[in-house]
Amino acid sequence: MKLPIADGAVLRARVGDLLRMHRGSLAKVVGLHTGAAVAGLAGPWLLGRIIDDVSTGTTASALNTMAAALAVAVLLQTVLVRQAQRSSIVLGEQVFAQMREDLIEVVTSLPLSTVERAGTGDLIARTTNDVDRINFTVRFGVPRVLVATASILLTVLAAVLTNWLVALGMFVGLPILLVACRWYLKRAAAGYLRESAAYATINGSLTESVEGARTVDALGLGKRRRDRTDADVREAFEAEKYTLWLRTWLFPGLDAAFILPIIAILAWGAYLASTGQATVGAVTTVLLYAVQVIGPVDELIFWLDEIQVGTARLARIFGVGLVQQDRVATGLKPSAQDIHTRDLEYAYREGQNVLHGIDLDLQPGERLAIVGPSGAGKSTLGRMLAGIHPPSGGKVTVGDVPLVELELEDLRGQVALVTQEHHVFVGTLAQNLRLAKQDATDDELADALRAVDAWGWVVALENGLATEVGSGGVTLSPAQAQQIALARLVLLDPHTLVLDEATSLLDPRAARHLERSLSAVLHGRTVVAIAHRLHTAHDADRVAVVADGRIDEIGPHDDLVAAEGSYAALWHSWQRE
Ligand code: ADP
Repeated sequence: MKLPIADGAVLRARVGDLLRMHRGSLAKVVGLHTGAAVAGLAGPWLLGRIIDDVSTGTTASALNTMAAALAVAVLLQTVLVRQAQRSSIVLGEQVFAQMREDLIEVVTSLPLSTVERAGTGDLIARTTNDVDRINFTVRFGVPRVLVATASILLTVLAAVLTNWLVALGMFVGLPILLVACRWYLKRAAAGYLRESAAYATINGSLTESVEGARTVDALGLGKRRRDRTDADVREAFEAEKYTLWLRTWLFPGLDAAFILPIIAILAWGAYLASTGQATVGAVTTVLLYAVQVIGPVDELIFWLDEIQVGTARLARIFGVGLVQQDRVATGLKPSAQDIHTRDLEYAYREGQNVLHGIDLDLQPGERLAIVGPSGAGKSTLGRMLAGIHPPSGGKVTVGDVPLVELELEDLRGQVALVTQEHHVFVGTLAQNLRLAKQDATDDELADALRAVDAWGWVVALENGLATEVGSGGVTLSPAQAQQIALARLVLLDPHTLVLDEATSLLDPRAARHLERSLSAVLHGRTVVAIAHRLHTAHDADRVAVVADGRIDEIGPHDDLVAAEGSYAALWHSWQRE
């Protein structure tokens, strides 16, 4: 499953919203550019006048006045262009900043279940490659398109007003221009979309290979992953080759469309001048306008191309915002801390339940170990208990409120899921910790770090809490990163924790050290531990055996061993090992 892609209507609505939000700056930019374009038209016009006046006879002072007017026009154009460029770049930056903020807002409130299903590769590609690509389009493209459009319209208008007969010559390139652009634009969007999808795929599979490097190594999947990468790169190459091929036809077409009008105006203008239907000055003026219009037309086409690419990217970026929320907060507040599941069912794929009618009552403060064969549904149950996925059937409640009816922030204050995945964000240690509790004081941060036995190494860092970590900063060891994640939990302070293999990937020494940190965090909370080693189960208050998406047995370790059921069998076989 991929994240959605916005369609044309959504795209137009979003872009419309953005432009409306910056209505004032937009009007200013358009006004300044129109002024600059008008000033730019004075040059050819005055030059044509000078030619005509000289050929019909004029005075030196009249010529001087015209030359002075020419200088003033050029000067005025310079000033206006500068102001216009400046305000359009500011506008581009404002619009882009707004889009970035909106995107961050959307991404951080995406339903977790969707992100899990769609994979992180697609989301990463959209928030990095796609944003980079439209960055250029929005910041420079939008202003340039405005300028080019205004210049083209005004220049053509000026040429027609100068002498409409001569100006007809300007349009002979138009059919070629239209055909070339239409041919190109019809194919370009799909081509560029394929290109960005190919890059997203490369991103996704590379990230998977790197994140799962141990698994790839352990299972000898290296060759298969390399082959996969090669295939992905080949697809990206093919996609690039196609769009390049499109451009190799577009550019010669454009050149022809630009040269033809100039030849036509020269020949047609010479004929009109010889028959007295136009002055040499008028022909000169129109000719200069025809040359002058090439720049903006070329620019407009270049940006049409870029804007097509940008539109494809934009559809992917706005698409992220179309993800349906998987829950609706009803504003209910839990009155107690007890968590229950009733008739709990879950299906990753419609009709294929991996959990079947689970009834579980967690007693506040207890430790429950969940054991069972791999694929039995332990992790799925854990994620349901932490409210990550809305159930497909039945419910999970805390203090009688379904978990998925809580605001995400409230939910995290009730129950949190602890996995092996922990991320160190780029920023200071303090910022990393405050993700869990925005308004935490430095003392609270220090207390949280002390609780997980991490204060020692943090104060030993040169800048302490203000140390920059993450890529580009100090690199934390996996154990330290895990401790930071645990300290975040201390700050979040949920009454219930679901642990999924929290320490199994670490080397045993680090794991022992971490276990101490962990047990400090677990102290006084309800804990559901998805146990992959049975000694964790042995220490728990109760053990639940999950098999085929059902709870087979549940009870204290000793009772289950005495009952000689499935748990007893697991336990004895583990002990023999
Ligand atoms: P356990 O933790 O006991 O090993 P899981 O809860 O991970 O079991 O998996 C239970 C079942 O759900 C398995 O059949 C597994 O293949 C399936 N499953 C787990 N995660 C997903 C997913 N993201 N998409 C589809 N099926 C999944």
